[in-house]
Amino acid sequence: PRSDDLTVKNCNHFHTQCLIKDFELRPNVLDLLEHVFIRQITGRAKILQKQLMELIDLNQQIVIAGKHERIHTKKGGQIMSSPTHDEVDDLATLEVLDEVMDSILLQRRYSKDQIYTYVGDILIAVNPFHKMELYGPQYTKMYIGAKRTAYPPHIFAVADVAYQSMVSYNADQCIVISGESGAGKTESAHLLVQQLTVLGKANNRSLQEKILLVNNLVEAFGNACTAINNNSSRFGKYLEINFTCGGTVVGAKISEYLLEKSRVIHQAIGEKNFHIFYYIYAGLAERKKLAHYKLSDSKPPKYLLNEHIRLGPDIVNNTFYKEQYDVVEQCFKVIGFTLEVHVYSTLAAILNSGDIDFSSVTSEHQTDKSNISNIAVLENAASLLCIRPDELQEALTSHCVVARGETIVRPNTVEKAMEVRDAMGKALYGRLFSWIVNRINTLLRPEIEDDNGLNIGILDIFGFENFKRNSFEQLCINIANEQIQFYFNQHIFAWEQDEYVNEEVDARVIEYEDNRPLLDLFLQKPMGMLSLLDEESRFPQATDQTLVEKFEDNLKSKNFWRPKRVDLGFGIHHYAGKVIYNTAGFLSKNRDTLPADIVLLLRSSENSLIRKLVTHPLTKTGKNARPNIFLSPSTKICLAIGDSGTGESTHHPRETTNMRTQTVASYFRYSLMDLLSKMVAGQPHFVRCIKPNNDRQANKFDREKVLVQLRYTGVLETAKIRRQGYSHRILYANFVNRYYMLAFPVHEEPLGSPETCAAILVKAKLENWVLGKTKVFLKYYHVEHLNLMVRQT
Ligand code: ATP
Ligand code: MG
Repeated sequence: PRSDDLTVKNCNHFHTQCLIKDFELRPNVLDLLEHVFIRQITGRAKILQKQLMELIDLNQQIVIAGKHERIHTKKGGQIMSSPTHDEVDDLATLEVLDEVMDSILLQRRYSKDQIYTYVGDILIAVNPFHKMELYGPQYTKMYIGAKRTAYPPHIFAVADVAYQSMVSYNADQCIVISGESGAGKTESAHLLVQQLTVLGKANNRSLQEKILLVNNLVEAFGNACTAINNNSSRFGKYLEINFTCGGTVVGAKISEYLLEKSRVIHQAIGEKNFHIFYYIYAGLAERKKLAHYKLSDSKPPKYLLNEHIRLGPDIVNNTFYKEQYDVVEQCFKVIGFTLEVHVYSTLAAILNSGDIDFSSVTSEHQTDKSNISNIAVLENAASLLCIRPDELQEALTSHCVVARGETIVRPNTVEKAMEVRDAMGKALYGRLFSWIVNRINTLLRPEIEDDNGLNIGILDIFGFENFKRNSFEQLCINIANEQIQFYFNQHIFAWEQDEYVNEEVDARVIEYEDNRPLLDLFLQKPMGMLSLLDEESRFPQATDQTLVEKFEDNLKSKNFWRPKRVDLGFGIHHYAGKVIYNTAGFLSKNRDTLPADIVLLLRSSENSLIRKLVTHPLTKTGKNARPNIFLSPSTKICLAIGDSGTGESTHHPRETTNMRTQTVASYFRYSLMDLLSKMVAGQPHFVRCIKPNNDRQANKFDREKVLVQLRYTGVLETAKIRRQGYSHRILYANFVNRYYMLAFPVHEEPLGSPETCAAILVKAKLENWVLGKTKVFLKYYHVEHLNLMVRQT
């Protein structure tokens, strides 16, 4: 060994580098090599070498020599000294950046329950999968207005930065939380809301309480147990908290995106329906009210009984569900919701309708007709929907068609009748969900319209999913995640680097994985996947087989392929990994039609809520269509798609509107645009949730799994650009306006010139900033420092 180098060789468990800190030797040397970071080697290399040699397995030769603060590894990687603080709180401060090293650091922090780590101004949150003592009042207080480096990284610090930026710059903010399913986005969103309502000094405690409660309520209706996450969000949520320009909370608004309605009628193996169904079933049973809602405690409705998990009678005895029912009731009460009885009867109607069975009646001259085989159940559903049972029966088992000016009633086959029944359940639930969100928004709307008001939006969508079997829902979810990743890339890399060029600032270009080709593959018109799907959905004869063939013929991308052994399958190489989708059901899910007969029948309901759910204006289509949140997940009413090739159409005789139906795919596209326009309007802050293992286990850190997530989210590149780049670019005039008091008397009004900016920065004792053509280029920590100084003056 050369005496001036510290070399670690032949450490099989260790790919390229190792971290050793303070010569803290532990009994297990491999453990040591994986966990420890060297800071000071000078003069002690020999001792370290000796100690290590004593500890290691003889088969593993570790050769050590010393030179200050430097380790060479067998692959030639190099680690230099750690930053000045004992803990590496910010990956962007590491002198040598490497993903393996990042994952080791995260693991080390994780083992000490330090689940949060910064990468510059971005927060990484590793899911602890156990309750943490990190969110009590003392933490809330500690992070208010604190200098970022004063305390360990924390989600509350992100809330604080967003809040302080909102108030300081008089600008809207947006916190984007991303990560795969089960990574902890929804939990993070809750914590942010908790802290933001405290920061916003909701002087009215009840408003603060309400904002926290609506989150729970919306999740009872929009979340469900999946194979990946017991409380998985099945919709996208953008929660805006409204503040006065002085920073006091005055209201909130939720926008919801793309609820996975198909879950109402069908759940995959090991999965469940939306939480609320189980809550009310158990809660109403406890209160002996099931009979009132035409439900039986001995025979749970089919929609709740995923045939693969035999929950059976256990639902009624489940104490968790009963408790959650109380929580929901409490939420309704606190928020000021008055129609919960109607909500319960709508839910019970959906459950009852799911139990309606059909049998086939075949006669010589006719195609298959269907009959209701359990009239009592039909009557229950009709009574809950406040409609006439005979009319419901007719609407389920037949449909009207107009051919050459004449109205003809055609029977439905059993299959078709079941489809109509399920379409009704899905549509009612989807609309109920939107209606609830809309009600909540009305109740939480700021009392006084304030044009100068500000807001902080929190985006929590369904995370990237890859199941054994992936359908249309997963495709939409994953495209949404692809879009969020694209936005992240644009913000962190593309726009920043464009500005260097425009402003003639010299900064090194950082390469990053651009997922634009994937977005084009999905969203391009007319040859993107969603357009092709829409086109195929318009052909009555199209099948899921012709659809996948159409994809194959038209999609020319290395990210798309047809796997050999999966019939209706196609593969996509997403930014977050490869997913195989199955097109079975794609067309009907995309068309998502609710027959006009059902709509008209429900419009005649005696129950005002049911009527409301089906009478709001039809979804608009076309170029200028803007997604209206109230309409968002609603099923379109089938008015114009021919149901056969015979020139007939399902135009309802009593319905004169002639409009094309909007598909889920086209609605999805508008929703994404709407979401993006909201996000782009605010200054973004990013929280990246990381899932440490696939088993939802505490204290288990699967480094390979984490490494993959660090790679696809571009954490390393982010760290590089945060270290080398300038995350804040502020126009001279704005900069001077905001910070002049740090260098000039308050009554003076210095020019918004580069010289004034330089004077302020020098006075603030900052280094490494750059002046561009029109803007000051600052690092994230400069801005923190400046803002803190302003607050202290
Ligand atoms: P999806 O995309 O499926 O909605 P998600 O990213 O929203 O997933 P969460 O529901 O937030 O995931 O988290 C999954 C589970 O992980 C939670 O139910 C909780 O048990 C645990 N968890 C997440 N974050 C934390 C935390 N900060 N402290 C304790 N437990 C947590
Ligand atoms: Mg979630």
